[in-house]
Amino acid sequence: MQQIHPENWTIIYFGLIFVVACVQMAIAYTLSNASNPMPGLGLYTVYFMATLLGLIAFALQYSSSAPMRMDIFSTASIIYSYLLFAAAGQRAQIKRGRIVLGIICLATCISVFFLEPQDIFGVQMSTTTLFFACAGLLCGWRSWAHRNIGDAITAAALMTIVGTLIGIYVWQIDGDSGQVQTAGFGLYSSAYVLVAIGFLTSVLIENQQRLSHISTQDPLTMLLNRHGLEQTLHVTLAQAARQQLPTSAIMVDIDHFKEINDNFGNKAGDQVLKQVSDTLQRISRASDLVARVGGEEYLLILPSTDLEDARTLAERIRIDIAESALLINRQQIAITASLGVAGALGAIELNKLSSEAERALHLAKRGGRNQVASVENKPILLSTHVNQA
Ligand code: GH3
Ligand code: MG
Ligand code: MG
Repeated sequence: MQQIHPENWTIIYFGLIFVVACVQMAIAYTLSNASNPMPGLGLYTVYFMATLLGLIAFALQYSSSAPMRMDIFSTASIIYSYLLFAAAGQRAQIKRGRIVLGIICLATCISVFFLEPQDIFGVQMSTTTLFFACAGLLCGWRSWAHRNIGDAITAAALMTIVGTLIGIYVWQIDGDSGQVQTAGFGLYSSAYVLVAIGFLTSVLIENQQRLSHISTQDPLTMLLNRHGLEQTLHVTLAQAARQQLPTSAIMVDIDHFKEINDNFGNKAGDQVLKQVSDTLQRISRASDLVARVGGEEYLLILPSTDLEDARTLAERIRIDIAESALLINRQQIAITASLGVAGALGAIELNKLSSEAERALHLAKRGGRNQVASVENKPILLSTHVNQA
């Protein structure tokens, strides 16, 4: 078995970098789903693979102590840094600057063939610094806009590299070019690892955010689901208990919804569900919580609202739903809903309040549908506003 000597450090070093790159890409692709791919995944893959190959080629050339052609490294690093800028832009979904920086990238790559080696170094340094700085800004913006620390790691890494690149350039003015190359190589490969760590963290956080969204939101209507409602209500319920405030609940159930599905198809049924959810959001206040808690059932929680005001709101909702029929293939689909209202003062339990609203809803159904019924610590009141649409 071959012994590990300092001379074969390149194999160990790139073995580690290669493993980091492969593991993080494997995780990113496993988490990404085909119908909803992670933004920027494709371009980041190109960046990671191209940069890795370039770094390996450069390291082999460096360790073989063959005379080095600085222009190969320069051209390659300009292309990597531009690829990173494009990948960061794709991930942040910002296309601005792509063409201008693309033209600068092309022009500097071509200029390598015409310039003196010392001039090439300056051009390469300033171009890569510009691209890394722009990529860093994009990652910084994304980390702020999406509350994602992974992009902040990439941004911080890139900004450190920008600072170090400027330092190297100043140092190189009367320094040893061999040392500068070693420092530059170390810098690019460290940047590579840091960007890989930042990208992986960003993908993992984004996946976590997606999962928590799925678990709290109904994908059809974008309303909260029952779990989302429970999560969101904590603060409101604590405040109601502390200040002895009234809280009301309205349970809404679309009448004969199964018939709508059977007669007009499930797509029409889905449109009805969306239309009713829009109506509920439009009529309720910003502080009210609207959730889809079953197939064609919705629950509204109204903080600081007593039963009488909740009944008035429920009546407005009932009338609005009954008056806005859905037009499908020039055919009008009449929609009505039954509503149950319940109210409580001070400390309440969501389950108790919603089952009381459900009890009232059953009364409204039994009373002939398209009506509002309410319960409050018994006796039970049945709506007098019966209006068959
Ligand atoms: P009632 O007036 O007593 O409320 O009768 P209903 O037909 O509205 O109630 P029922 O519980 O019998 O039927 C509810 C139907 O809702 C059955 C189910 O197929 C349908 N449904 C549940 N979720 C969805 C959905 O996401 N989309 C569509 N299109 N239909 C759904
Ligand atoms: Mg139902
Ligand atoms: Mg129903």
